[in-house]
Amino acid sequence: MRVPFINLKAQYEGLRGEMEEAIKEVLESQRFILGPKVRALEEALAHYIGVKEAIGVASGTDALVLSLMALGVGEGDEVITTPFTFFATAGAIMRVGARPVFVDIDPRTYNLDPSLLEERITPRAKVILPVHLFGQCADMGPILEVAERHGLKVVEDAAQAMGADYTVDSSPRRAGSMGHLGCFSFYPTKNLGGAGDGGLVVTGEEELAERVRLLRVHGAKRKYEHELVGINSRLDELQAAVLLAKLPHLEEWTAKRIAKAHRYDELFAEADHEALGIGLPVVEYRNRHVFHQYVIRVPHRDALRSHLQEVGVETEVYYPLPLHLQPCLQSLGYREGDFPQAEKAAREVLALPIHPELTAEEQEYVVEQIVQFLSEKPRWASPC
Ligand SMILES: *Cc1c(COP(=O)(O)O)cnc(C)c1O
Repeated sequence: MRVPFINLKAQYEGLRGEMEEAIKEVLESQRFILGPKVRALEEALAHYIGVKEAIGVASGTDALVLSLMALGVGEGDEVITTPFTFFATAGAIMRVGARPVFVDIDPRTYNLDPSLLEERITPRAKVILPVHLFGQCADMGPILEVAERHGLKVVEDAAQAMGADYTVDSSPRRAGSMGHLGCFSFYPTKNLGGAGDGGLVVTGEEELAERVRLLRVHGAKRKYEHELVGINSRLDELQAAVLLAKLPHLEEWTAKRIAKAHRYDELFAEADHEALGIGLPVVEYRNRHVFHQYVIRVPHRDALRSHLQEVGVETEVYYPLPLHLQPCLQSLGYREGDFPQAEKAAREVLALPIHPELTAEEQEYVVEQIVQFLSEKPRWASPC
């Protein structure tokens, strides 16, 4: 059996009419930049996320860059974040001239561990940038508390967490709506993905929204009158049209992801996963995890992954090299051993197929293959 890691074609089959109609409308209008589709998407997503303001931008990476620019973060400033994330999180910090300061992760959730946060704060710190990895919010309660105590701003990297919730004082808050600014990506494989690159910045503060809106069009409030030195980073009308067509389906897709995650949990439990050394995703009680990824921990990860490839099961490793060990960030002075939990996760994690179109048979096959391989461990394992 072949189990693809993601199946965007299957999703498109069900949406063909709506998507083609949306694209056709834009073509007929010949309005490609900051027109009615972008405006409508911004409004719909501000409502969905529960924020006052949403600004469509060219990518999730640009959403991070523009957020940091809007806060005036630059040379000499420090931004505190996790080393276990996609490169763009740290790349955006470097891009504005600031320094990423890493804090190790909570091994249960793979998110920044707030209990390690305070000791990393120096007088140069400006922003805390938590990432809601794999679709589950970082522990925002204590993060916001520390930020407030030290006068720091909070920018959420919610690229993987569209629709995730974190409960504060018994009311659920959407990912992206808790910090000063929240950043999203519409990269095609994200939970809400476009037909190309796209991103979104959200905020509850009008002044910050105004700055991001200016910065995405070279800082010009009126044509050819530039108040800030910005960049060109707009969401295309065509992308907005595609995303508007997909948005009404997002909750249904999310429900399917969650149901499939539960099914994996069940199948692994039936196979006595603990005895095989398999660690399942942990959902903290405050969270609605939207399972952008379903990530397990396994022994002999790379050998298992090759075996799965051979039997037709596509998997991925997010992320094999933590950011503090990336070649281009060596000037920061970090060394192997600095963030043991992130480094351990990088060796053990394996992301399984979890898209909404995944079938029950495919899931059973995936678990069967993993369990079978790990049960036969003595046959192939290196002696240790
Ligand atoms: C996808 C992603 C980004 C970047 O988004 P792009 O739209 O690809 O630029 C940033 N951070 C995280 C955690 C992501 O997963």
